[in-house]
Amino acid sequence: MPADIPSKERLFNHHMKIAVLTLGCKTNQAESMNMEHALNNAGHQIVEMLEKPDICIINTCTVTSKADYQSRQLINRALKNNAKVIVTGCYAELNNEQIKNIDNNIEVIRNNNKSNIINMIPNEYSSGNINFSKYARHRPAVKVQDGCNYSCSYCAIPMARGRSRSIPIDRVISEIKFYESLGYKEIVLTGIHLGTYGLDLKPKKSLSMLLDNILKNTNIPRIRISSLEIKEIDDKFLELLTEERICKHLHIPLQSGDDNILKLMNRTYSTKDFLSGIERIIKKVPEISIGTDVIVGFPCEGELEFENTKKLIESIPFSYLHVFPYSPRPRTKAVTFSGQVAGAIKKERVTILREIGMAKKEDYIEKNIGKSLDIIVEDRCEDGVIGTAGNYIKVLVTDENNIKEGMLVNVHVLGHKDGIAIGIPAKNLELLNKQSFFICL
Ligand code: SF4
Repeated sequence: MPADIPSKERLFNHHMKIAVLTLGCKTNQAESMNMEHALNNAGHQIVEMLEKPDICIINTCTVTSKADYQSRQLINRALKNNAKVIVTGCYAELNNEQIKNIDNNIEVIRNNNKSNIINMIPNEYSSGNINFSKYARHRPAVKVQDGCNYSCSYCAIPMARGRSRSIPIDRVISEIKFYESLGYKEIVLTGIHLGTYGLDLKPKKSLSMLLDNILKNTNIPRIRISSLEIKEIDDKFLELLTEERICKHLHIPLQSGDDNILKLMNRTYSTKDFLSGIERIIKKVPEISIGTDVIVGFPCEGELEFENTKKLIESIPFSYLHVFPYSPRPRTKAVTFSGQVAGAIKKERVTILREIGMAKKEDYIEKNIGKSLDIIVEDRCEDGVIGTAGNYIKVLVTDENNIKEGMLVNVHVLGHKDGIAIGIPAKNLELLNKQSFFICL
């Protein structure tokens, strides 16, 4: 956790150039950002890979075989750069041997020791100027929980991260206040299994208690919740969701729309539970944006099971879908299941659901045409600036003089293209309306 803002003296008494490369989930991103803060506080310079770092810290992921491959790719890239390579994260946790086989000099750090990396960096390198470019992420993830007590049959994460552990409320509050003091407009509460927040604390706490405390004790304009299981959304949480500062956006993994597959996956809900949970949320917050994850081609998923998934997805007004082909993870239960699905079929099903996902995204954006949304500006492109709204839609803002990255801007949505809303600053619309009023006169 970032302890305090680095003083100028500490910043310029730096030691080396360090690149932190991250794969995977928001929790990994939050952990990388905390490493960067700690390294910067210690006077090191955070750089991009292109800037020839002295040290490369690679925070890996093992959620799919593709993530494993990308982790190894980043390690090899760092080695080619002649940097000292430190590897951590979920891939490193489960594949220590494989990493040592790539190069015996690579230092592998356990997931639970990540926050100590700062103390393992030797002080023998030199570096250039301080560069805060990595601080430019505009919606920082705040890790409030780690680990998972569930045992989904396809998932290797509990092996890599252990059982659920929560960060005490006062520490979360001071981290959010830190971001607030730097002018950030949004934080994303993140964890591996966020819904179990606080159950391990003494006395027990809950995610709703945490949210309540954040609302009372911080002024950060926007609070987003990264991912929750359907059965973890209770009445207290739904009440908090109506608060203005809580983003009207939830990500609720479905994984499959077939009850037999859900059982094989060892998920803790049925399709009926999922559907009634979604109905309850929409009744309370009708404008909410709900995204989901779906795994296709899980063992035993035949035509019928896939059709069930497709039908269920079509019946729910999701605002986007993240669709993944099932990826057999070593040492998980699902790798031993018979009825593994051929790669070509998985590919076909991914395409079908991604198309449905795109159509749903556009439907949701269309509902926002004519509305005013507050966006956090995150990027600049040829046509203007791009930002994220509270309901998670991306908005391209044209006609945008004086708008800078990181700003919270009220925009008016006029249309959409390729899954992105298109808008103008709301104040320009007022101007436009006044002008047409005078023309009419
Ligand atoms: S809830 Fe299931 S999918 Fe998510 S981390 Fe835990 S075991 Fe994995």
